[in-house]
Amino acid sequence: INVTNKKDDSGFAQDDVDLLKAVADQAAVGINKAQLWEMAVTDGLTSLYIRRYFLAKLTEEVHRSSRYKNEFCLVMLDLDHFKSVNDNYGHSAGDMVLRSVAKIIQQNVREVDLPARYGGEEFIILLAQTEVDGAILMAERLRKRIEELRLEGIPPITGSLGIACFPQDSQDIDDLIEKADAAMYHAKQTGRNKLVVYESGMTVAK
Ligand code: GH3
Ligand code: MG
Ligand code: MG
Repeated sequence: INVTNKKDDSGFAQDDVDLLKAVADQAAVGINKAQLWEMAVTDGLTSLYIRRYFLAKLTEEVHRSSRYKNEFCLVMLDLDHFKSVNDNYGHSAGDMVLRSVAKIIQQNVREVDLPARYGGEEFIILLAQTEVDGAILMAERLRKRIEELRLEGIPPITGSLGIACFPQDSQDIDDLIEKADAAMYHAKQTGRNKLVVYESGMTVAK
């Protein structure tokens, strides 16, 4: 907080200083709270939202979309053969890949979308007010950017993606996630480095 001079040029008195201190203290509490909140809902490695926060926001989105008859889609992304990156180049190289992929995700989603780190090397993105065609465009762009990513000393990586959309694929949160996962699994099974849209009958082999 920068205070330069009073309107009447009378100079600052101790009362002014006390008042400003009180305002600054309140602001500091607010800033501190915001920082703690940010830390609680984001993942330390990637800065993406954590799974629990994602699920809470997804619940809200289902309610909102039901009410306003909006569509939205989920994109599930899992990196291909990621274990071999760790095994061959070390865990910190793996972490660097995860941070870079997270950055690509951040750069390719809109303000209203919600990207999260769903598991170790698994990401999920809620594309608000988006129909399947829009989700395909976004996910395909993501797949391409990941494929094009070059990191020093690490060979190119790829990811497999699955899409499921509300309300047509499911109106239940767990079921919708499972369907995005099933589509992603289908992408793995049919060659990896690809995008699959959920179709009825697709399942995740347990
Ligand atoms: P697939 O193409 O079938 O997905 O193969 P994969 O090797 O990617 O899949 P798998 O599930 O076998 O391995 C995931 C690996 O991700 C296991 C673990 O070594 C790695 N991993 C998970 N979380 C982290 C992390 O935070 N940092 C690093 N460096 N590696 C992680
Ligand atoms: Mg994987
Ligand atoms: Mg995985």
